Amino acid sequence: HARKVNQHAQVYHDALQVNSVERLNLINDLKTAIAEQQLVLFYQPKVSLNSKKVTHVEALVRWQHPTLGMLPPDEFIYIAEQTGQIDALTQCVFLMAVEQFTRWRDNNIHVNVAVNISAENLKNPDFFSFVSNTVDNHNVAPHCITLEVTESVFVEDTEQAIALLLKFKQKGFKLSIDDYGTGYSSLAQLKQLPVHELKIDKSFVHNLTKSEDDQIIVRSTIELAHNMGLCVVAEGIEDLPSLQWLTQHGCDLAQGFYISRPVPAQSFEAWLCSTSDY
Ligand code: C2E
Ligand code: CA
Ligand code: CA
Ligand code: CA
Repeated sequence: HARKVNQHAQVYHDALQVNSVERLNLINDLKTAIAEQQLVLFYQPKVSLNSKKVTHVEALVRWQHPTLGMLPPDEFIYIAEQTGQIDALTQCVFLMAVEQFTRWRDNNIHVNVAVNISAENLKNPDFFSFVSNTVDNHNVAPHCITLEVTESVFVEDTEQAIALLLKFKQKGFKLSIDDYGTGYSSLAQLKQLPVHELKIDKSFVHNLTKSEDDQIIVRSTIELAHNMGLCVVAEGIEDLPSLQWLTQHGCDLAQGFYISRPVPAQSFEAWLCSTSDY
């Protein structure tokens, strides 16, 4: 009947916008997924627009589900957050990313690896020591790892979030504000933040050369970031004109499908070897 048709249309439209039965199953399956290593990391390069070299990569989680196939993070991160599993998930992701970093380092591939941190993680008092011990145990210098957080970390407990981020900064980690411009952080808050980097949200970037409004937003964000001594990354670059525009306007790092989609570690290595410059 009609509802079924609708559901199918939606499945087609949003890849795997899961229904409630599937969601219930996913909640249970996620525990197994974390324990049985069904989570895999894909990596997407960030290119330095100054040196034209790949200096950073972002780790993006996927779930290799035994029956549903490869699930994108938007289908299960919020489930992990709502069912108390986000700490286990992030720890699993962080460990995999650090291990991958050491394999690359051993193969003379030197890139900073970024991991996405959920606002929920910052509420866990043990999170700092886990992250800190993990890099120490792998002999990884914290400045080789970036923690990407969204502005949402400041919505609930600003003071506590800032205090914790400061601890990460003092340990030497790089901190990045992800999806910048989509949240509600004020300039006053931004000034207080112990971050190194602003990541301009892809919604301002993907249509950049066709939208004068987006150009104004991106140009002033680059200026703001630089005036505050921060590095600025544009994500969601899908064409060459946008990449050129960002280079001309002093953006520091570039990330997007035009450069590379997120890919498994081995594909990233192969791509890196075959790519000379941007
Ligand atoms: P994000 O951190 O903003 O990551 C960027 C997303 O944009 C990724 O989607 C990436 O594949 C996509 N993207 C990159 N370049 C382009 C482009 O040129 N055009 C377009 N249209 N999209 C582009 P993905 O991998 O599906 O991840 C979605 C979100 O899931 C991430 O957004 C992040 O918020 C979350 N996420 C991913 N991995 C993790 C993780 O390990 N932990 C947590 N807590 N969240 C994660
Ligand atoms: Ca991110
Ligand atoms: Ca983002
Ligand atoms: Ca996002």
